[in-house]
Order: sequence, then structure tokens, then C-alpha cells
Amino acid sequence: MTINTTLEYAKQLDENDPLAYMRNHFSIPKQENGEEEYYFTGNSLGLQPILAKEAVMEVLDAWQERGVKGHFEGDYPWMPYHEFLTEHASRLVGSLPKEVVMMNSLTANLHLMMVSFYQPSGKRTKILIEDHAFPSDHYAVESQLKHHHLNVDENMLLWQPRQAEELLNHDDLYQLIEEHGDEIALILLPGVQYYTGQVLDMKTITEKAHAKGIKVGFDLAHAVGNIELNLHDWQVDFACWCSYKYLNSGAGSVAGCFVHQQHVENKKLNRFAGWWGHDKSTRFKMENQFQAIPSAEGWQLSNPPVLSLAAVRGSYETIELAGGMKPLREKSLKLSGYLRSLLAAELGEKIRVITPNNEAEYGCQLSIMINVDGLDGKAMFNAIEARGVTTDWREPNVIRVAPVPLYNSFADCYHFVRILKECIA
Ligand SMILES: *Cc1c(COP(=O)(O)O)cnc(C)c1O
Repeated sequence: MTINTTLEYAKQLDENDPLAYMRNHFSIPKQENGEEEYYFTGNSLGLQPILAKEAVMEVLDAWQERGVKGHFEGDYPWMPYHEFLTEHASRLVGSLPKEVVMMNSLTANLHLMMVSFYQPSGKRTKILIEDHAFPSDHYAVESQLKHHHLNVDENMLLWQPRQAEELLNHDDLYQLIEEHGDEIALILLPGVQYYTGQVLDMKTITEKAHAKGIKVGFDLAHAVGNIELNLHDWQVDFACWCSYKYLNSGAGSVAGCFVHQQHVENKKLNRFAGWWGHDKSTRFKMENQFQAIPSAEGWQLSNPPVLSLAAVRGSYETIELAGGMKPLREKSLKLSGYLRSLLAAELGEKIRVITPNNEAEYGCQLSIMINVDGLDGKAMFNAIEARGVTTDWREPNVIRVAPVPLYNSFADCYHFVRILKECIA
């Protein structure tokens, strides 16, 4: 493929980008020399939307001025605050409003969901995950198995890449489902794999699993705000995601949770309950007879941290300003596609991008390995960082680079490749 490798061309792409103005809705960190960083870690911690800061300040002001009455007064009273986020969240994951709620943190939600959707019985006791699952997901699954007094080695089934490959091969998963289907209780997989950036075929995985009576949950930490999702139509049983990566809601901010409509009213599901999941009309009667709200809200435990929810609200409103996921995904494909072509043109075999190269299988992130004898990937990561490029390093040997359509430009990608090329030389 030939690509124009000049800065002028990158600038021209920015001029023709209908979403370029969205960058002005974010605060971009500065380098020591006062220039803006080339920030490519929106997959790890999204930048701060101006509206998120405003929304947080509003809550601080309301608290200062109203005290406890802030629960009921003002434009955004705290009591129903999470409800102001429901429509936004459902658009992001492709669900009905009653299927989503913003609550807790990602790993906590994974546990809550497994309490409800991992019900080992008889021969069906296994949980299938990927071999290179994010540690927190791995620990959560391991501890759930132990909680049910099950042997971890025997009951944790791993989907592994083939020998000497990095990517997961769906055929291998389908074969595992075929062979072990009646022993698997739950499949828990990422929507987008955090290390390689590979997008999994959530729709087909869910179909194949359901055909064998297996429940399916997805960890959407790297998928939400990155790719388009249709959890309701895909019939996914549950999903969880954090809000500080592509959702730009600040470190450790409140997470999201999806429960499919077919389960939200099921009273037979196990659940770890709390008062915020109890029927709103009788919650304050304090009568101690739990009545779950017949929506994903029924899994809430506590009254939520409103300061964090405010950041989520500002972030969601920012995404709406851009027109939602459809135009963002369109730009993202162009942006990451441009970055890949430029890397190939300028660095050729000196680097290797392990992220898949067809549109259904990649999101923002490209995972890059340095492929030059005697050059250490970690040292290269440090070298580009010293020159204003923020990426992230993931052991054992990948530099993750995520141009984000909300605030990254084509010129950012140009400068990243230029600096990487200079450092490798
Ligand atoms: C970021 C991430 C997490 C982090 O979990 P927290 O509970 O938010 O700390 C977990 N799993 C995956 C797959 C992630 O990408």
C-alpha cells in the first residue's frame, strides 16, 4: 500500500475530519516545553472532558450550598443521579434502558454478575476464559471457583492462542464449546483483548455458547466507547465495563453493568443484594424485605458516589456532542488505519503490529512490537516518552498505542511515527 507520508497530508486529513473540533472539549496534558503531549493512552486513562469537570464542580457546589437537600433539589438531584446516565449508557452498549446501570467498579461488578450467572451444578461446573485474561478477571474467576469449593485447575478452561501466535483463533473456541459444552457453566471473555487489541466476535460466541446451554458474559473494559456494541440483540447474558478508559470519566470512576432483559425480573437468580437495589417506592420504609428493582438497577448495592457519576455524565454528554458511537467508530477506523499504513511505510519490518488488520477485528488500539536485533522494546517506549509521546508498555513486549477519535488527530499519529522512527534510528 502506498501512503503519503508527509505532515501536510496528515494536516489535510485533520482539516477534512468532521470530528476534529471535539478535541477542544478536552484538556490535553502538556509536555515540559509547554507543547501538548502526543497522548495515545485513552485505552488506559481517557483525557478529561471539559464537561466532566463542570459536572463535578456542580455537585461540589450543590453539596456546599444544600447539604443533605442536594439529594432532592437542583437540576441533577443525587437520589436519582444514576438514572440521568441510563439512556446514554444504553446507547453505548446497544441495550434497552432497563438493561444497564452505572454502579460500583468493574471487578466488583464481575463478581456480582458471577454470583447470579455462574451457577455450577452437576457436570456443568466450568468457567471458560482466555489464557491471557486481564489479571483482575482471572483472579475474580479463580476466587468464584474457590467460593463454590471447586478445584481451580479442573474447572478453569482456557482458550489459548496457537503455538507462536498472539491472537485468539475463534475456531479453537468453537471447538472447545463443541467438545466441552455440557461441562461449561459460563464463558467470560473480553470484547476487545487488552494486550493485542483484538476484537472478539461477541455475537457468534454468544450464539454458539447458548446453543450448548452456556451463559455468556463480556468484560467490555476495552470495548465500550471504542467499538459499536449491540448487547441486547446479541442476547449476551451480562456485561461489565469500567468508565475511565475510552469513557473518559476519571481514574477509578463508576463502572457499568448490563443484564439482559430476559434476566432482570428473574427472582430465582442468586444475588448479593443491597438497599439501592431495592424497590424505590418502599426503600425508605426500611422494612427489611428485599424487593429487587426489575431492571439492572436491582443489582445495585449502595447509594453511588455522585462525584464520580457526575464525571461520567459530563463524559457521556461529550460523546453525544460527537454524535455517538457511529461517527466515532468511522473516524477511529480511519485514524488507526492511517497509523498502521504510516508505520508500515516508515518502519517496515522494524516493527510488527500484532493487532488484526481487518475492520471487524480492531478498534482504536494498535499493539506494536519492536523487531530490531539488539533494540529493547521497553527502552524504546522510554525513549519516545522522553520526547512527548505517551503510550503504554505492557509486559512482556508490547507498546500499546491508541489514537482516540474524540481527541486524537491525524497529525498526532504522524508525530508518533516520526518520533518512533527517529528513536529506532
Ligand atoms: C482495565 C481493566 C480492568 C480493571 O479493573 P478495575 O476493577 O476497574 O480496577 C479489569 N479487566 C480488564 C479486562 C481491564 O481492561
